[in-house]
Amino acid sequence: MIPDRIVIEDQTLRDGIQNETRLLTTEEKLEILEALIDAGVRRFQITSFVHPKKVPQMSDAEKVMKMVQKFKEAKFYALVLNKRGLQRAIQSGCSRVEISVSASNTHSIKNTGMSLNEAIGEMKEMLRAASEHGLKVRAGIQCAFGCRYEGKISEALVLKILEQQVSYNVSEVALADTTGMANPLQVQKLVSEAQDICENRSLFLHLHDTEGKGLANIFAALEAGVQCFDATVAGMGGCPFIPGASGNIAEEDLVLMLHQMGIETGIDLNKLVAVANHLREIFAKDFPGKVSKILNRRDIKCIL
Ligand SMILES: [Zn+2]
Repeated sequence: MIPDRIVIEDQTLRDGIQNETRLLTTEEKLEILEALIDAGVRRFQITSFVHPKKVPQMSDAEKVMKMVQKFKEAKFYALVLNKRGLQRAIQSGCSRVEISVSASNTHSIKNTGMSLNEAIGEMKEMLRAASEHGLKVRAGIQCAFGCRYEGKISEALVLKILEQQVSYNVSEVALADTTGMANPLQVQKLVSEAQDICENRSLFLHLHDTEGKGLANIFAALEAGVQCFDATVAGMGGCPFIPGASGNIAEEDLVLMLHQMGIETGIDLNKLVAVANHLREIFAKDFPGKVSKILNRRDIKCIL
């Protein structure tokens, strides 16, 4: 049955901006965050603790974690990909992390410098350490639906990694279509199998719209009972280590579709569109999100 309420994790200030060369100041990030909270967004992946030279946009991760402390109404997650990142997250007072590995050996090497086996070993140590420090953990698998370097990714491998993750103290899991290669039937199949493994833990889907199948994949996942999705305003984003990478599901496109289908999000669409406009202004470029462009026109109707 299709859920009547959906949780959206906003990743605009992490996945969304990480590939942009125009660096945002921490103050600019704060302004965007305040606007998103005002729009009703209550959950964020707000930064990642990665090497500042590799992803300069995330070099203020410590400052960002400090900045979000005052927002008690929302939950903030930070992405960590290795032990060093986890250590930095803990030291900066972060209480919620996503610990994520890639199911593609080649992507893992390019993204983290570790082979798949090394990354899984590191992941286990991180999951153990996070649990010891009482952190809330979302365990993620990148390239779960395909890889631009390797092509098909074995479903059995993804499910095996997932089994390893849930054997630790993990409260949520996330399957990421980092490359945007998933199709709706593939989503339904993998999600159904993953649900059996993650039992009562929330299953998030992190989808990219690279091949234009983003919202079709969302609908397929809704039919399979998925209630949690990642998105970025205006459909910004993409991994710096994936050739041809493009943006996430545009949050305002997702919210409009869900609202039209009678599914609650708690998010004010018009306020979200205002954030999308602001981002286009700051970066002085267009982004893929469609709905904000329609809603910016006062001369035509949209069914809200
Ligand atoms: Zn992503």
